[in-house]
Amino acid sequence: MTPESQTGRPDRAALSASAPAIELKGISKAFGPVQANKDISISVKRGSIHGIIGENGAGKSTLMSILYGFYKADTGQILIGGQETEIPDSQAAIAAGIGMVFQHFKLVENFTVLENVILGAEDGAMLQPSIAKARELLTQLAQEYELNVDPDALIENLSVGHQQRVEILKALYRQADILILDEPTGVLTPAEADHLFRILRGLRDEGKTIVLITHKLREIMDVTDTVSVMRRGEMVATVNTDETSPEELAELMVGRKVLLRVDKAPAQPGDSVLEIADLRVTDEKGVDRVKGVSLNVRAGEILGIAGVAGNGQSELMQVLGGMRTGSGTIRVNGAPIDLSGARANGQARRELGIAHVPEDRQREGLIMEYFAWENVAFGYHHQEKYQRNRWLMDNRALRADTEAKMEKFDIRPPLPWTQAKSFSGGNQQKIVVAREMESDPDLLLVGQPTRGVDIGAIEFIHQQIVALRDQGKAILLVSVELDEIMSLSDRIAVMFDGQIMGERSPTETNEKELGLLMAGMTGDA
Ligand code: ADP
Ligand code: MG
Repeated sequence: MTPESQTGRPDRAALSASAPAIELKGISKAFGPVQANKDISISVKRGSIHGIIGENGAGKSTLMSILYGFYKADTGQILIGGQETEIPDSQAAIAAGIGMVFQHFKLVENFTVLENVILGAEDGAMLQPSIAKARELLTQLAQEYELNVDPDALIENLSVGHQQRVEILKALYRQADILILDEPTGVLTPAEADHLFRILRGLRDEGKTIVLITHKLREIMDVTDTVSVMRRGEMVATVNTDETSPEELAELMVGRKVLLRVDKAPAQPGDSVLEIADLRVTDEKGVDRVKGVSLNVRAGEILGIAGVAGNGQSELMQVLGGMRTGSGTIRVNGAPIDLSGARANGQARRELGIAHVPEDRQREGLIMEYFAWENVAFGYHHQEKYQRNRWLMDNRALRADTEAKMEKFDIRPPLPWTQAKSFSGGNQQKIVVAREMESDPDLLLVGQPTRGVDIGAIEFIHQQIVALRDQGKAILLVSVELDEIMSLSDRIAVMFDGQIMGERSPTETNEKELGLLMAGMTGDA
């Protein structure tokens, strides 16, 4: 018998403890013609870690932004602790005990940690007497949850991992019972991600409810109790994590069976194709980005460069691709390439047999206003197969070529007369990948080949990269996805702060060791 039935008074504590922490019923949300959420219902148990997984664009962030009062649902109900709750704005969400850590932090860069934490909180008027109290509470929370950060540090001087801790502290300071994290590990090293997961488990064990949005299957398997899968705006399943598998989740996400492992034979490396010696790159602001990198890639092998974003990998690729100047030497098939900028352009690189799938496809890989067929030939239009005669390009050959590539790479919609900007991010990436991979290069540079691409297409792009390797191409791969580096590379070099921290064979290393190198720690430190 509950006290309620004895006294006739509802015991709110008991009521809400048995009710789900969050219940969403029939939530729909459209942005113009895009139905981002379709009639979604889920229930999240109090004191659990609930994962939400789905491909890019599945509607995860939209759903959670509705729960946080950032968007208003077109239809549907929100129940918090069993009570129907209106959440018109984030103040209402905070009042309902909900905290959210966004994909892009919302901290004020030139304020201190303490200032950021109290900013906008209930008693957050920055009055002297409450600052001392706030500092005390912050220190206490930080200790309790292993979220150590210096309260007086400026946000701009903190690592991304620490900035994230501040976001979590901010939510806890506002007494959040429900914490939503949107793709929190995208910017973290594996060790930082592990630390975050420890914190989340600790919070859960104290009775808090965590909603973790991610597209990474491994994280779901690692840390969640239950998981909901979204696909194209719909909620397709909710399962207990210990009763599912990565394969099953992938299939639910994509809607068909997916090969999660890359099948490949051992590499048969040949002659050296790319030789980099003492490469240095200084950026526009005079900051040294690449500090004396030496690397070698042979025909028929994939050298993967692992590292947390922002450690010089992008600049390294840009110099190789002719988009940036540098010093040192780079040889391709024995011939030095010019790094001074005089001939530093993509055309000169292509003549040397270098193909490049750049990291930033929208700015470096495509002309967004141009049609697919123009983009598919872009940079390669001088090739003989596209020439009708000395003066004219063979438009029919171009179009046929585009159609063939669109079919092979499953580019949707398969319409050559569609502007690049009208394709989704994943399909834009496939246009670039198709153009570069089909250009028969000696050396392929690939930066973040599957960023923003769904699992089904990842599988395909990975197979294509391995196929090129097996045709004897040299491949330099840069990716911030450690899984991708581990499964594709024949050798792995780890980059930190503009330098190569070490090189490992994927069969003789593990995530932990690579993670330490990615954080700048060598075994002998
Ligand atoms: P996810 O977080 O799963 O990657 P989102 O919730 O961000 O997906 O997006 C779901 C769909 O809604 C996508 O097609 C996206 O382009 C669209 N969308 C999201 N936010 C907006 C917005 N503010 N305006 C227009 N379209 C949006
Ligand atoms: Mg999102």
